Amino acid sequence: QTFVVDSRQEQQEIGQNQRNLDMQVRRDVKKLHLTVKNTNEIGDLKKAVSLQLSGLVKAMDEFKRKEEEREQRLQGRYEDLIDKVEIMEQETRKVKAHMEEERLRARTDPLTGLPNRAAYDEHIAQEYERWSRYRTSFSVVVCDLDFFKKVNDTYGHLAGDKVLRLVAKVITKNIRVTDFVGRYGGEEFVIILPSTSVQEAEQAMDKLRLSLEKSPFNFHGKPVGITMSFGVTEIKEGDSLDDVFSRADNALYQAKEDGRNL
Ligand code: GH3
Ligand code: MG
Ligand code: MG
Repeated sequence: QTFVVDSRQEQQEIGQNQRNLDMQVRRDVKKLHLTVKNTNEIGDLKKAVSLQLSGLVKAMDEFKRKEEEREQRLQGRYEDLIDKVEIMEQETRKVKAHMEEERLRARTDPLTGLPNRAAYDEHIAQEYERWSRYRTSFSVVVCDLDFFKKVNDTYGHLAGDKVLRLVAKVITKNIRVTDFVGRYGGEEFVIILPSTSVQEAEQAMDKLRLSLEKSPFNFHGKPVGITMSFGVTEIKEGDSLDDVFSRADNALYQAKEDGRNL
């Protein structure tokens, strides 16, 4: 803003300087004419003309000097402006990075480092959108640790937290990079398997379930048995987002009813 205001003022000044010079030159040339017309003596004429010419040269030098000064001021201001823009760009980059960090933080579960429920909501909405448009099927899994309250009660909350972190790792290791896993809340996780039928999803979850069952969870050197129950479903015609989640949740409830680790 300052740069623009100053430059405009400067621009007006140049105009004024140019007009002044123009007037002065015209005045001096007119005087020269008069001198030439009215002076008969060649010696006087020479002296007068020479005097007036040096006046003219002085005026032009003065103009040139002012122009150069102005040029320098402008140069300095340009450099300031470039520096300022550079600083602003740096700050913008910092703010952007910070915002991106915050966005990520808002979608990450601090305990396990997995995406949280908000991230799941975003992800499933995208998957659902893709399915609505291209009919690319996907499966959804809701899973929950069995008798986790007992783990907390027996070994303490910190041990429970450690188990949750390990479970997150085991799940991540056992699914594909194209699959999505998030911590939905408490000891409950959700998995989205794109382009996967319910049969394929069931197979994948069986593998994960067995892998979890076999994982060596230890507390104070003693093995702690950890199992998980799963509810698996595939998107189908007429489903809303809530429908598909509810079906998986009901299947999980059924697995718990049927004895868990299922
Ligand atoms: P079920 O097999 O029926 O799922 O039994 P459960 O004991 O796992 O289920 P319940 O819902 O009765 O208890 C869940 C427990 O999970 C209770 C709660 O203390 C624990 N839990 C939830 N979030 C956390 C957490 O962040 N850290 C720890 N350590 N425990 C948690
Ligand atoms: Mg549970
Ligand atoms: Mg639960």
